[in-house]
Amino acid sequence: MERRGFLLLLAAGLTSAAVGRGAAALAAPEPVVAAPPRAPVPAADTQPAGPAGVVAVPAPAGVVDALPGPGTNLALTIDDGSNGEAVAALVTLAKETGTRLTFFPNGSYRTWGDNARDLWPLIESGQVAFGNHTWSHPDVTTLPDAEVAEELRRNQDFLRRTLGVTATPFWRPPFGSHDARTDAIAADLGHPTTVLWNGTFDDGRVVSPAELVAAGEQWFTAQAIVVGHANQPSLTAALDQLLGLVETRQLQTVTLADVWSAPA
Ligand SMILES: [Zn+2]
Repeated sequence: MERRGFLLLLAAGLTSAAVGRGAAALAAPEPVVAAPPRAPVPAADTQPAGPAGVVAVPAPAGVVDALPGPGTNLALTIDDGSNGEAVAALVTLAKETGTRLTFFPNGSYRTWGDNARDLWPLIESGQVAFGNHTWSHPDVTTLPDAEVAEELRRNQDFLRRTLGVTATPFWRPPFGSHDARTDAIAADLGHPTTVLWNGTFDDGRVVSPAELVAAGEQWFTAQAIVVGHANQPSLTAALDQLLGLVETRQLQTVTLADVWSAPA
């Protein structure tokens, strides 16, 4: 789709999107949205095409902050999800442009359940992938073992029930705050790969669309993992220009699951 068409689509579709869910959502109950039954795995020659020239290698045990090997790929990774407009805009971007995204949601935000039906086909085709970011976004280094595990397990339940995501090798510690103890707990629960980043939208504070585009200009480079947050509506206004940047730099978006497969 032409980028202008995407912009118009955003303008038409987002006026009704949920907005402004903030800290209050932390205490909200888990959204009750049943994930669809998994479709049978198609034969190899009918699998949807993944990104060109990308062959997945086993996900490593330990910390990663960039994509493996040479290439012209870019991993856009989006965390949290406290703003419904931003989540809906990203889902629309993926649907309409084929952009590949990796989400690290906190299940405590209802925005994910609100967008689940649109996400399901993207998950099924592998165009979007997921990692665990804990249920309610604590600094896990400050929690006892049992609470770290509970934060991860509760978010696993959310990923499975709401989005149909049954397993992922990836987790991202909130605030990037982790240590050997938290990483071992995550690995025991099926997340051996601690995903950090080497580029950022720096949107842990309030940012303008122009600042987001400037961050893209700084950090959209080959084999980068860039972190952003679906936490404020300014992201919506920046998406078209950010996508243009990916095109002009001749980068190819990939999910983390495109480049790293779950260990057998
Ligand atoms: Zn986060």
